[in-house]
Amino acid sequence: MGSCGSNDILFICSMGHSGSTFLELLLTRDSCLEGLGEVGQTIEQLTINKKYLKSHICSCGQTGKDCEFWGPFLSRTSSEKEFYKEVTNKFNKMYSDKTLVDGSKQLVFLEKYNNYLESPKDIKVLFLVRDFRSWVVSEMNNRKRKGRKKQIYPWLAYKWLISNVQRLRYLKKNNIPFHIVSYERVVFELEEQLNAIYTFLELEENNRESYDLKSSNSHNIMGNRMRFDTKKREKISYDNHWFSDLRNLALAPILLPVYIFNSYIYKETKI
Ligand SMILES: [Zn+2]
Repeated sequence: MGSCGSNDILFICSMGHSGSTFLELLLTRDSCLEGLGEVGQTIEQLTINKKYLKSHICSCGQTGKDCEFWGPFLSRTSSEKEFYKEVTNKFNKMYSDKTLVDGSKQLVFLEKYNNYLESPKDIKVLFLVRDFRSWVVSEMNNRKRKGRKKQIYPWLAYKWLISNVQRLRYLKKNNIPFHIVSYERVVFELEEQLNAIYTFLELEENNRESYDLKSSNSHNIMGNRMRFDTKKREKISYDNHWFSDLRNLALAPILLPVYIFNSYIYKETKI
């Protein structure tokens, strides 16, 4: 075991818009953790549309084309399986005993490590959940901003429930070591929650001094806009738009199962 512990991969499993880019940037301030952003989605793009990635700005500050990690892959043609091998091999060469932080979120991308790599990796999962009241309002705003079809509040609330329960069941059923992370608790109880994550990772924290997300070690070219927005990376902030939204209250009786799971997440992550 090196000084950086024995984890190969730390996979962030969550729904979209749950704070995975934030969590990756937060954790990769640590010199033992190195982020590659949404590995699964990036490799998918490498196999279908490299052009799209060339001009994307990576969290390291370079465009995809000039990024030290992803740049060389953009001029190569390989199958998805080969890319998985090449990416993990390059990571091991460049960052030897560090843990690869993968923010791909979806279970299908978690499965690819086992399907594609010959020697099984030691994978740990952070199961990240954002409060449904915050997630639904944010999802509605995102849909509006991107010109997508409007979806009603209870529909999205149940989508949140089903999707998160599916993830939790999968992790339990497959005996994957996982730790539940409440996005809200991380923002509001930062130190305590980070301690719990480090205990789960069996790792000593290497960067206590600063919570400046600009100092993160990460090559994230597909994540949330926060990855390249230096202002957003200056300090940890919380989007409180939902505080004044009363729809969850008006719909409370029909949202009971959603509330129960929401409360379960807070109870499980209480320190
Ligand atoms: Zn980069």
